[in-house]
Amino acid sequence: MKALVEKQRNFFNSNKTKDIQFRKEHLIKLRDILKSNEDLLYKAIYDDFKKSEFDTFTNELLLLYLDIKEALHNLKKWSKPKKVRTNLVNFPAKSYIIPKPLGVSLVIGAWNYPYQLSLAPVIPAIAAGNTVVLKPSELPSNTSAAMAKIINENFPEDYFHVVEGGIPVTSELLEQHFDKIFFTGSVPVGKIVYQAAAKNLTPVTLELGGKSPAFITESANLKMTVKRLVWSKFLNAGQTCIAPDYLLVHESIEEKFLEMMKTEIENSHYSFENGNYVQIINERNFHRLIPQIDESKIYFGGRHDVENRYIEPTILHNITFDDKVMEDEIFGPILPVITYTDLDEMIAQVKSKPKPLSCYVYTEDKKVKQKILHEITFGGGAVNDSIMHIANSNLPFGGVGHSGIGSYHGEAGFRAFSHYKSILDKPSWFELGLKYFPQTKGKLNFIKRFLG
Ligand code: NAD
Repeated sequence: MKALVEKQRNFFNSNKTKDIQFRKEHLIKLRDILKSNEDLLYKAIYDDFKKSEFDTFTNELLLLYLDIKEALHNLKKWSKPKKVRTNLVNFPAKSYIIPKPLGVSLVIGAWNYPYQLSLAPVIPAIAAGNTVVLKPSELPSNTSAAMAKIINENFPEDYFHVVEGGIPVTSELLEQHFDKIFFTGSVPVGKIVYQAAAKNLTPVTLELGGKSPAFITESANLKMTVKRLVWSKFLNAGQTCIAPDYLLVHESIEEKFLEMMKTEIENSHYSFENGNYVQIINERNFHRLIPQIDESKIYFGGRHDVENRYIEPTILHNITFDDKVMEDEIFGPILPVITYTDLDEMIAQVKSKPKPLSCYVYTEDKKVKQKILHEITFGGGAVNDSIMHIANSNLPFGGVGHSGIGSYHGEAGFRAFSHYKSILDKPSWFELGLKYFPQTKGKLNFIKRFLG
């Protein structure tokens, strides 16, 4: 690991990555390698957790292609020095800010969207002119191996390299001195990464998780709400960091809403055969999820099968904030429903918990929408939709507090991997000279009058 980081540092110090053309060429190369190896990528992810080609293309590869396209289109603009106003104290001078790469970066990925979450941060890292060590999650071992193969065969080690492995490998990587660490994963591991980064004062982006609520208010358009909620919750069998973790449903609509949810799930025909459902990633996670299903509170679903790592889309009702399922992020196809009558009380409950990564508001009432958006602190979210804010790269994506530090996608990603160098650029032909000795009364009066 030490040798790898040293090699990358030497390469970074050669200044080659600072060339815009170089960055563009490598973004194109990454896109071409992904495109020409799509079959291998589909097979690997299917072998890991039966994810279909449709889902892999739409939720993983397409987002990467769009990110690359956007980076190629905007790279020149994002990298340009930005002029800012010069104040009177510094007259005459120019002032500008130059975006520069941070250096050798480490990207650590999570398993649930293994291609997207590993490679989406690599795109801005390359676009901003960094070198990259990528450590994908070891849990989906086939996708990790596929990425290692196609990237390590096509990129030089001193520029972009994939290192495979679990905790020991990641721990060893974290002992090295990187100039940027970008981590996607759980809150506890995020804290380990943050501590390791602190030793070298390495800047971090932490994309973490948590319990993301969705408010279903009295005025919600139930037909559309149900459609969007079912899709977003059971996509990837609920193994999505920004999936609605639990629902807060107004009492007046609860019965109708639950019936419609049940019908929508039934009509969606979730199955591995249909390609619209995936396995729970491993047995450990399967056994973590099953105790979250309180049999006495099942409204729909609940069937499971350990051999296939299958858990049916499941709705739990009559849930309170004291239920076990409300303790930690669920990260699986279990949807608890809490009924409310007092919105203020629900908002207070959400605010008493760690700040969510996402929050969703289903309502046609502007005041209710503004109230929730205004009062709750959360990473990002949507009104009358869930998940889809991730697909607009003009919206910086990230958490706040326990759900993360920093953000990325689009220009925000470029910023995450850049240092903005501030420069005051003075000509030598003139100097007001007020700061030099002697410190006279006249100078002080001038300063007080014109600069103070
Ligand atoms: P995880 O924290 O277990 O693993 C993430 C990465 O950290 C993996 O590469 C793993 O090898 C490494 N790792 C695990 N334990 C480690 C340790 N002790 N020391 C050093 N490295 C270690 O997370 P996960 O199970 O892969 O992903 C699930 C979590 O990630 C959920 O909480 C989810 O909400 C969150 N997540 C967040 C986002 C986001 O964009 N904010 C996206 C996906 C997942």
